[in-house]
Amino acid sequence: MTDKLSSIQSWLEEQQLDVAYFSDFHSIDYLTGFNSDPIERVLALVVFPQDEPFIFAPALEVEAVKNAGWTHPVYGYQDQENPWDLISQHLHAHTQHTEKWAVEQEQLTLKRASLIQTAIPEAKFIGNLSPLMTKLHLIKTPDEIVKLHKAGEDADRAFEFAFKALQAGVSELQVMAKLEYDLKSSGVVGMSFDTLVQFGAHAAEPHGDTSNNTLKSGDLALFDLGTIYDGYVSDATRTVAFQSVSDHQREVYDVVLEAELTAQAAAKPGMTAGELDGIARDIITKAGYGEYFVHRLGHGIGSSVHESIQIAQGNDLVLQPGMSFSIEPGIYIPGDLGIRIEDSVIVTESGVDPYTHSPKELRIIE
Ligand code: MN
Ligand code: MN
Repeated sequence: MTDKLSSIQSWLEEQQLDVAYFSDFHSIDYLTGFNSDPIERVLALVVFPQDEPFIFAPALEVEAVKNAGWTHPVYGYQDQENPWDLISQHLHAHTQHTEKWAVEQEQLTLKRASLIQTAIPEAKFIGNLSPLMTKLHLIKTPDEIVKLHKAGEDADRAFEFAFKALQAGVSELQVMAKLEYDLKSSGVVGMSFDTLVQFGAHAAEPHGDTSNNTLKSGDLALFDLGTIYDGYVSDATRTVAFQSVSDHQREVYDVVLEAELTAQAAAKPGMTAGELDGIARDIITKAGYGEYFVHRLGHGIGSSVHESIQIAQGNDLVLQPGMSFSIEPGIYIPGDLGIRIEDSVIVTESGVDPYTHSPKELRIIE
């Protein structure tokens, strides 16, 4: 039994619950090491306080579950079978206590809950696993930290591929395709979110997309990307100048850089998330660009790029060693430019350790 599964069992005991039913494939990956999105098929991890846990999976995934190192039973179902009746049979074969359930309330749909209820009429959905999973994700283990650093190294290489792909007239989509081609050719299994490449004024839309917009001399080019390493992800942003840089672009860049470097140097255990956001925000505000910093400073990162931590104004979450999040100040002036610099970091005993290391002083790509 892994430590993570044992912690679920202890929680069930404390809460006096009979069954933990996990249906979010991210949670199943976190707890078992088996990573697959079942799309519309049924994938579940079922854990009990005492009895042996099992995984229920589409038949075509059963070998992959075993190959992922899962040593407890895994049961498959074929597409013509009723998965809920089978889950009921396996459940009753594993345990005599099947009434009090905890489910991922933020993930399990009402439709699926009612299908479970029909197949297992005694099931009562009492506990919520979603907050428990959020809490488990908050502090990274040494093994997870190693994987995050590996994901960061791949992101650093991605920037080098990206910069090489810049030339006059190239489109954002072409650069995105080229950098992902080079990265995957070098063995990276995937991106952790849709790569963002934005040139010139287009980068002033921080939630915009990668488009057919083309690169001109004197544009800034923004790259926001992340990679996956053994289920753990990176998230980083660099902004570079193409062929030349104006005084105005450099001035704004230097403000963002100062905000990023200062926040990274100041971050440490015991500080609140809101205080950290404020350190970067004050620098940008004092420079006169406060109205153009339109998002929080950062967010939690681990097995996905949207974990619960919010490095945001007013958040009194206290930073602790092992937490992992982004530090990503930006200035977005509509019709003019967008600049963001982002690193992923892990809180240590005395500060933070970034796991992306691409240079941050303004680069001019010829
Ligand atoms: Mn990002
Ligand atoms: Mn981010």
